Amino acid sequence: MPRVYMDANATTPLLPEVLEAMRPYWMERFGNASSIHLDGQQARNAIESAREMLAEFLGCRQAEVVFNSGGTEGDNTALFGMLGAGDHLVTTSIEHSAILQAAERLGQMGVEVTYVAPRPSGLIDPDAIGAALRPNTKLISVMLANNETGVVQPAEEIGKIAQAAEVFFHIDAVQGAGKVALNVSRLGCHLLSLSAHKMHGPKGVGALFVRRGTPLASLLVGGSHEHRRRAGTENVAGIVGLGKAAELAMHSLEDGTIPRLAALRDRLEAGILKIPGTGINGSQSNHCHPERAPRVEGSASSFSEDNPVPRVANTTNLWFDHLESEALVIALDLKGVAVSGGSACASGATLPSHVLLAMGVSKSRARASLRLSLLKTATAADVERVLEVLPEAVAKLRELSPVAAGQVF
Ligand code: PLP
Repeated sequence: MPRVYMDANATTPLLPEVLEAMRPYWMERFGNASSIHLDGQQARNAIESAREMLAEFLGCRQAEVVFNSGGTEGDNTALFGMLGAGDHLVTTSIEHSAILQAAERLGQMGVEVTYVAPRPSGLIDPDAIGAALRPNTKLISVMLANNETGVVQPAEEIGKIAQAAEVFFHIDAVQGAGKVALNVSRLGCHLLSLSAHKMHGPKGVGALFVRRGTPLASLLVGGSHEHRRRAGTENVAGIVGLGKAAELAMHSLEDGTIPRLAALRDRLEAGILKIPGTGINGSQSNHCHPERAPRVEGSASSFSEDNPVPRVANTTNLWFDHLESEALVIALDLKGVAVSGGSACASGATLPSHVLLAMGVSKSRARASLRLSLLKTATAADVERVLEVLPEAVAKLRELSPVAAGQVF
């Protein structure tokens, strides 16, 4: 039985076209892009072609694209490069640890930090961001799509608030890139980070959009690479892979892939919700009926309490009463199904998800929650396989569970 991988928000495999595009830059075109000879110029041209693709992907100028090592570096650069003692940062309590731990360290360095909590649905209220602003607020940093729930934040509205207040705005778009259309002018951001390996590109490479005129200090010094914004010999093959992944992502945003994924995700959710004692995290109601389950809107601009909460098409986060999700992850793994019990980047930690806790989910329910995130290449057969093994695994674990037996509260 082939394995079913439903942990795309942790990482994705290369698409074959991405590998093909990268291959020559490890082999015959191995030059250093800073060299003036032909070998160097081939590498330089490849990087600049990828930059052109990223500029199209983001709707920005080529000179505003800075290649780096991925989402963590982009997030760290945005925060450490913008803020110093006496400044104020507004962020949220559901950010990735790349933001939260950078903010914590900045706090120790004399930066004031406000963490805005989400609504129970997982959505950040733009008005709460506005209300958190102070005269010394220098930066707002809010993610586009949450890695655990898939909830798409009202980034466009937050961008307008930032603009009106003349505050810089950073978006962690690591989980949004390739799943919702990006346009940095529409989003109104000054900085935006993304990572290739979340969108069928290689690991260890990403990009930071830096709007022209943004006073960003570089984290790394030691060379004039990337317009002096990021020193270090460029990862040419990785950058070529990111460019190809962005090109393919642009196609798949328009070729019906996203509605197809949303339909598969909805089918998966509807099937899982038939198991008693289950529900969706990151929706309007914790008891979301399948028919009313939020569908992907792909819009970062539809903030309303009345609408179903927009989510990226590939993600669902569900709770299973009377279960420990770690046990379920292991049981599913043994059946050949890969899912995640929380943020993959925090794997190894047994703490309940900070995202779910911030949404007001109880500790026991947060510990009993599972994230399933579909690859772009997911099939109906993958969904059926999960629906075949999951109910049985849940039933078995509940039978064994001291929580179910009422021995643990
Ligand atoms: N931001 C978000 C929202 C993420 O989900 C992740 C990774 O899971 C990161 C940042 C870090 O990205 P990278 O793995 O490229 O360092």
